[in-house]
Amino acid sequence: MEDLITKGKQLISEADKILVFAGAGLSTESGIPDFRSPGGLWSKYDPSDFYYDRIISDERSREIYWKMSTETWDIMKDAAPNKAHIAIRKIEDSGKLLSVVTQNIDGLHHKAGNSPEKIIEIHGTVATVSCLNCGKKYERQYIEDRIKNEGITVPYCEDCSGIIKPDTISFGQAMPEDKMMLAIKHAHECDLCIVLGSSLVVYPAASIPEHASKNNAKLIVVNRDVTHLDAYAEVVIHESVTTVMERMIG
Ligand code: ZN
Repeated sequence: MEDLITKGKQLISEADKILVFAGAGLSTESGIPDFRSPGGLWSKYDPSDFYYDRIISDERSREIYWKMSTETWDIMKDAAPNKAHIAIRKIEDSGKLLSVVTQNIDGLHHKAGNSPEKIIEIHGTVATVSCLNCGKKYERQYIEDRIKNEGITVPYCEDCSGIIKPDTISFGQAMPEDKMMLAIKHAHECDLCIVLGSSLVVYPAASIPEHASKNNAKLIVVNRDVTHLDAYAEVVIHESVTTVMERMIG
């Protein structure tokens, strides 16, 4: 692995515009389990209740959705960024970070100190809640406090009584077009793309590093499992992202 770390350091020092693509493997090392794994939080529930159409049309699904969502929030709210998050922050400190495109919804890049404008959360965030009718935005903890203090199972908008929903992308909900466009633009502009903790199987998110690779950006892949882009990467390390990034960025 020593040679690969050295090669990775060299690629980072030679690069001017770095795009980081982050996946669930980054969050698991902050103690956030992969909810989709067997035995994970989501396996307790019927996923059909979490489809966007059901959430907006069916009060019972909405109730189950909020129960699951509150459990998710309780796990994520106190999680702390790890050494790989800090390494990404250091890339920004060096002036080379174009953006970090993340599949994670836990807000840990914000907690690590990356600038909000550098963070593209393509699957949304648990940190805020929005009204689907009037667009009013709420801090997540404020809504969770309302649920607990008022003893309600489904919260509604204070201004218009509309349906409110955490700002995460649900099954069957369209990806945020502006964020995807910006991520693809940066994938075309970067000269180095670093994939961290993603097996690159969830689309369209996984198309972002593909765009970078096809546009001749160099590629570093750090992930426990193999990915279909390994063959195109200059550096591939199948290891823990914190172990590798601490040594590569230092
Ligand atoms: Zn409203």
